[in-house]
Amino acid sequence: MGPRIALLGFMLETNAFAPVADEAEFRQKHWLEGDDIVADARSPTPRDPGGLSGFCRAMDESGPWEPVPLAMTTAGASGPVEQGFFDRFVALIDERLRAALPVDGVYIQAHGACRGTVDLDPEGTLFSTVRAIVGPAVPVVATLDLHANVSRKMVEETDLLVAYLTNPHTDHADRGHEAGRAMRELLAGVKTAKAFVRVPILPPQVALLSDRGPYGEAIAKGQTRVGGPILNVSVLGNFSFGDYPKNGMSVIVTARGDQGAANALARELAGDLWNERHRFTPRLLSIEEATSRMLEASEDPAKPALLFADCADNPGGGGRGNTTAILKSFLDAGVTGAAFAVHTDPPLVAEAHRRGVGARFTALLNRGETDPGSERLEAQAEVMQVSDGEIVGRRGSIGGRRFSLGPSAWLRLEGRIDVVFISIRHQCFDTEMLEHLGIEVRALRGLVVKSRGHFRAGFDDIFADEHIREVDGPGLATPVLSRVKWTGVPRPIWPLDPDMTWRVPDDVAVA
Ligand SMILES: [Zn+2]
Repeated sequence: MGPRIALLGFMLETNAFAPVADEAEFRQKHWLEGDDIVADARSPTPRDPGGLSGFCRAMDESGPWEPVPLAMTTAGASGPVEQGFFDRFVALIDERLRAALPVDGVYIQAHGACRGTVDLDPEGTLFSTVRAIVGPAVPVVATLDLHANVSRKMVEETDLLVAYLTNPHTDHADRGHEAGRAMRELLAGVKTAKAFVRVPILPPQVALLSDRGPYGEAIAKGQTRVGGPILNVSVLGNFSFGDYPKNGMSVIVTARGDQGAANALARELAGDLWNERHRFTPRLLSIEEATSRMLEASEDPAKPALLFADCADNPGGGGRGNTTAILKSFLDAGVTGAAFAVHTDPPLVAEAHRRGVGARFTALLNRGETDPGSERLEAQAEVMQVSDGEIVGRRGSIGGRRFSLGPSAWLRLEGRIDVVFISIRHQCFDTEMLEHLGIEVRALRGLVVKSRGHFRAGFDDIFADEHIREVDGPGLATPVLSRVKWTGVPRPIWPLDPDMTWRVPDDVAVA
């Protein structure tokens, strides 16, 4: 039989400036209950967005166990979760976990940067609900996204928090596996000692890649210390657009009982981040500059193909995934050979499906959108291909995972620029989002993706790092912090308060 481990998950990255995420959005994007959760996690092409597949694999590899799957959902990145829905979800977990008792352990798949329309620490609420039911002796382990905004309560109510180490995120399953291995240690009697420091830095989201810069250096240094007394080191980048008291970078060090070792390492890494804060800066290209570079690439096939990130309208950061400023600039300038992926526009996709492949018509983009930043655009269009939008990712963040874009269409605008339109709001992670429709990414002279950084792991074998640039367009996830009307981030915080001082606290232990 083996130990009974409850499995549950709730994942949302909240952009406080985006429309509220309701139950319908969660159910549309990912919703599994009971045995379907384990069946998906053990599938060769899971839909699971987090660490669950790796957690189950680690448990399967290390002996008998009995999964007790409760419920699992995510809405990706969106606005604050509608409070009534979140409360119902917590009540559902409460009811099912009580009914499943006794359990020997709990695994929670969380994002960590959720905000409710009322509750400013939904993960803390969920974790404390679980803890109150199972009691202090049962191990509770959770995985977190690298962009989690961590509260002290989240650390208090769990035995171990394991955050992703890579941005772009390609290690969800590996971190779940790590959580599963740690679960076996905790079940065998190991007790954890935890240290937690929140560092008052609000970095632009584009300055948090894990293979470079001060953030990458802190993550790498932390990993060299794992082993012996140190069970896990998690350095979290934070998600700035939460705009609430949990904002700030975090360091969590979890030791095998050795509180002193946890404290010392957490303080050291927090000090490193603070001392290097001046290096958290974005390097953006203006739309005009991107357009002129793209024109050059259009006209000279000897020049390398270019990849531009429309990072401010990244649906993975709560953007609407449909702004048209860069597209309009490229169309006006006469760019050829470029593609845009992916624009969320359900009415336009429906029209393309209705008219059929080969149809030519005047397309109106964003006719169903109310956000003022998502400007309408009219262009002559030809329907090149349509699809149901069901794909399996090729590599990177969704490599090997089943993924739904909803009904999709490839339209050629003004006979020159190819655009992929989808119906379920997502960022562009993967070449399959274009190629399943017939667009050959390697043949393009340029590509504009609605994504902040995860695209890098999906396109890095086609576009060299030096030909990838972030473009300064409009959108709800702009990396230009001075344009955001912050009301909730804790102050002072760097760089909004550039003259502030701060020192690492002496007491960082969390009981
Ligand atoms: Zn993330």
